[in-house]
Amino acid sequence: MAETREQSEYWAELAEEIIQTEPLVEYLQFRNFTIIYLTSEHKRKSNGKAVHGLTEIVQEKNKWAMPGDVSITIYEANNEGFTKEQERILMLHELMHIQVDGENNNKPKLRGHDVEDFSEIIEMYGMDWAHVDDKKMPGQMTLQDINNEAGANKTDQLFTTDKKQ
Ligand SMILES: [Zn+2]
Repeated sequence: MAETREQSEYWAELAEEIIQTEPLVEYLQFRNFTIIYLTSEHKRKSNGKAVHGLTEIVQEKNKWAMPGDVSITIYEANNEGFTKEQERILMLHELMHIQVDGENNNKPKLRGHDVEDFSEIIEMYGMDWAHVDDKKMPGQMTLQDINNEAGANKTDQLFTTDKKQ
C-alpha cells in the first residue's frame, strides 16, 4: 500500500513551542517560509533501520498538494512508546535540519548531521535518547534510564534518512 501522510496540528503546535523556546532553533522565528507537519503510519525504514522523522524541501511541482515550503513527516508507527520528552527531541532534531537562506530569509535549505545525530542533541540527551524500554510503561522512563540502558542497540534509534544526508 502506498504511504499516505496527513497534516498534524499536534506536531505543528509542539514545533512552534520548540521554535519559540529552544535557542538551537530560534533562528527559525525569522523565517519567511512555511513548514508543514505531517504524520505517517508507514513503517519507513532505511538501511534496515526505523526512520523516526524526515525533513524534506517541498518541490515546486508538488506545492499544489502540499501547502508549504518544507515538510516534516513524523513516522508515528516507528515512535510507539515515545515519551513527551522524546517527541520533543525528535521534533527538535527535525527542525535542526532546516536552515534559513536567501534574501529576507525566504529560502529553506537543509543541512545534514555532523555526526550520526546532531552533536548538540547527543551532548544534551545522549546517543540513546530515542530508545524505548519495553519493560516500563511509556512516561515512566527518564532520559537517565535511556542513557543507562545497557546493551541498547544504537543502530535502531538513530535517524538514518533525511533527504539531505
Ligand atoms: Zn536527521
